[in-house]
Amino acid sequence: SGKHRVAIIGSGSWGSALAKIAAENVWKHRDDFHREVRMWVREKHVNGKKLTEIINRTHQNSRYLPDIALPKNLVAVPHLKDVVKDATLLVFVTPHQFLHTVLRELAAPGVITPGARAITAIKGVEVNGTDIQTFASLIESKLGTPTSALSGANIAIEVAQEQFCETTIGVPSESDAKLWYSVFHSTNFHVSCIPDVAGVSLSGALKNVVALAAGFVDGLRLGGNTKAAILRIGLQEMKGFCMEFFEGSKPETFSDESAGIADLITTCYGGRNRKCAEEFVKTGQSFDKIEQKLLNGQKLQGTATAEEVNNFLVARKRAHAYPLFEKVYQISFKGVSPQEIVRGL
Ligand code: NAD
Ligand code: 13P
Repeated sequence: SGKHRVAIIGSGSWGSALAKIAAENVWKHRDDFHREVRMWVREKHVNGKKLTEIINRTHQNSRYLPDIALPKNLVAVPHLKDVVKDATLLVFVTPHQFLHTVLRELAAPGVITPGARAITAIKGVEVNGTDIQTFASLIESKLGTPTSALSGANIAIEVAQEQFCETTIGVPSESDAKLWYSVFHSTNFHVSCIPDVAGVSLSGALKNVVALAAGFVDGLRLGGNTKAAILRIGLQEMKGFCMEFFEGSKPETFSDESAGIADLITTCYGGRNRKCAEEFVKTGQSFDKIEQKLLNGQKLQGTATAEEVNNFLVARKRAHAYPLFEKVYQISFKGVSPQEIVRGL
């Protein structure tokens, strides 16, 4: 049939929450969409049972998004190739450290449907020496799929509970904007489509670095003024970085869109990066240890991004122009005292 078929690649907390929205929407628009949505679940045993079987029987992802009812037309599938078979719309939402493995499997001949398009909700960047790329452009270059980016003030559990929020989709064409809007927009999940794919991608990645700084401030028990200063300086660095290294991106993406200022605020108050950074200051434990202890199998994105961004800025001899990013890296990885977060900004 000429219907679009949506595949979700990733099933952590955000993957499952986005899959819920997409499956509900395709059901509503089933004249245009295949009514089944497959979601890739990396197989795992939970209390002796396969996670895919638990999800398909109970319609809950007990491991990563407990107590949320998932639509019955959302099907958990353990093998990537089966997930993307005949899919025309691919949603990438694994933690960023696993994207390369996934792309390697999908780039093999005959795996992806010709003409398919993709969107990424992954927060991170791809750095190689003096080069930097968004995941949207990485996916596009490896798979040949026109690729958009979805990012916004979207803590997964709140979205899954259907609390009202907004998101931004950076999308290269009008026709793709229409498609992705119908996959994701709903009463309580307002989608705004803009052409700035790089700005949407970068704001999602870089705000995680600022969220670590916000967590350090919380851990040091500094107050609202300091935290507001960190958010303001962080937003300036996010915007400056994108303007400097991604031609064509727009400052308004940072100041006006959910992907910019709004995501920065929610993540610096309620996100995992903030929470783990606070614990880092309070306990002096490493981030690896804290991630294992506090996140129950979920993945931190900000620490790896801080390191990658720092490597890139050092390679370009521009680290001094982004003192907050530099401080976050040095505190996280180089034993610099968290008190230094507010010095030299
Ligand atoms: P998560 O942090 O819940 O991580 C768990 C997922 O990682 C599971 O699907 C698990 O199967 C997978 N995983 C673990 N080890 C793996 C391996 N070796 N290979 C492949 N997969 C493996 O994931 P998430 O919260 O869905 O995050 C995905 C992306 O979405 C991240 O980039 C994150 O920044 C972004 N995001 C998250 C939220 C949120 O609130 N959780 C909101 C917006 C965006
Ligand atoms: P954390 O990964 O810090 O929880 O941020 C989630 C997020 O990206 C909210 O939009």
